[in-house]
Amino acid sequence: MKKTVKKDLAKIEEEINNYMTILETLDKEDKHHTNLKISKEEIEKLVEKKAQFQKDLELLNTLGEEQFNKTDHDATSMSKPSHNLMAYNSQIAVDHKYKFIVATDISTNGHDLDQLHNMAIKSKEIIENSDMIVTADKGYYSTREIKKCIEDGIETIIPPRCTAANKKIKSARFSKNQFTYNHLDDCYICPNNQILSKIKKQYERNGRMLDVYRISSTYCKVCPLKQNCLSEVTPNKQMYRWEHEDIIDDYVKKMKTPQAKKIVRKRGSIVEHPFGTIKRTLGWDHFLVRTKKKVLGENALIMFTYNFKRLLNLIGIALFKKLCIAIKENNLNQIREEIAAYILMSAYYMAYFLEDIFYGQDFHKKMRFRR
Ligand code: SF4
Repeated sequence: MKKTVKKDLAKIEEEINNYMTILETLDKEDKHHTNLKISKEEIEKLVEKKAQFQKDLELLNTLGEEQFNKTDHDATSMSKPSHNLMAYNSQIAVDHKYKFIVATDISTNGHDLDQLHNMAIKSKEIIENSDMIVTADKGYYSTREIKKCIEDGIETIIPPRCTAANKKIKSARFSKNQFTYNHLDDCYICPNNQILSKIKKQYERNGRMLDVYRISSTYCKVCPLKQNCLSEVTPNKQMYRWEHEDIIDDYVKKMKTPQAKKIVRKRGSIVEHPFGTIKRTLGWDHFLVRTKKKVLGENALIMFTYNFKRLLNLIGIALFKKLCIAIKENNLNQIREEIAAYILMSAYYMAYFLEDIFYGQDFHKKMRFRR
C-alpha cells in the first residue's frame, strides 16, 4: 500500500541518515569505524532496500493506485482483527429453509457495503420467487444499495449501522434524529422549535446528492440550547438530507417492526451455518489460486462442495442415487414424496436421541403427533 511504502521509506531514510551522521562524526574525530554497531554490509542492505521502496512508490504513482499486489494484481488489502492481508471477499446468499448456498460471488473490496444489490439480484434470478426477502448484517447497510433493491422489487431487511448521527446520541450534542423533518413544508424543526429551511444549493457526498437545510445565526446566537447543538466555532445549524431520504425514512420505520426484528435475529443462524461448515468440516480458509478469474472458480467450487455435502446430509447416498436417475429421466415428481418421507423418518428416529440429550423430554411423542 502506498502509505505503508511511504512510511517504510521515511523510516529507512532516517536510519541511513543517522548512520551517515555517525560516520561523518567519527571521520572528523579521526576515530575507527569499528566502534559502530552496524557493519558496512548492513548499511549497503539498507540502501538496497531504500532503492526498492523508491521503485515501488514510482510504480504506484505511474499506475495511479493506492495499492498494488505484485503476485496477484486483482487482490486488495483487507483489514482483519489482528492484521491486514491481501485477499478477496467471498460473498454467499443462503436459503433459510434448507441452508443451501443459492448464489456466490467475489469482491475485491474489504467491506460489504456495495454487495447487497448484487447478491440480491443473483439470488432473485435463481430462486425466481417474487416474495423473496433478503436479509444481511449491518455491514451491508447502504442507503444506495437498499434503494436499488427497492427499485428492483426486492424486499430487504438490513439493520441500520451506527452512523455518526446515532453516535452523537451518546455525546451531549444533538443528533440528526433530534431534528424533525416536516414533509409538508420540506424543512427541519430543531429541538428549539425553529425552522431550518431548504436552500437552493445541493451538496455532493460519496456520489449522493444532498439537499441543504439552514437556519439563520440570529436564532442560534440567542438559543438556550446552543451548547447542545453547535460547536464553539459554528455560528448556525446546517443539515443535509439525501434527495431520496424518504425511502430510508420508511425503511427505518419498517426495521422497527417485530417482524423485521425477528428476521434479523434469525439471520445469524442461517448464514453462519455454511461458513462454519466450510471452515470447520471442509477445512477451507483461504484461496489457493491467484487472480480474480481463478479465485472466482475456486470459490464456486467450494460452495458447490458445500451444497453437495449438504444435500447428502439431508437425503443420504441411497436417495441421492435415485435423485440422479430421476433428474436423468426428467421425472422429479416420482422422488419428491420419497425424499419428504425419508427426511420425516430421520427426524422421527432422531427424536429418540433428543429424549436422552434433553433429560427425558418426550420429543418422540411430539414427532409422532406431527407425522
Ligand atoms: S442552536 Fe439553532 S438549530 Fe440548534 S436548537 Fe438552537 S436555534 Fe435550533
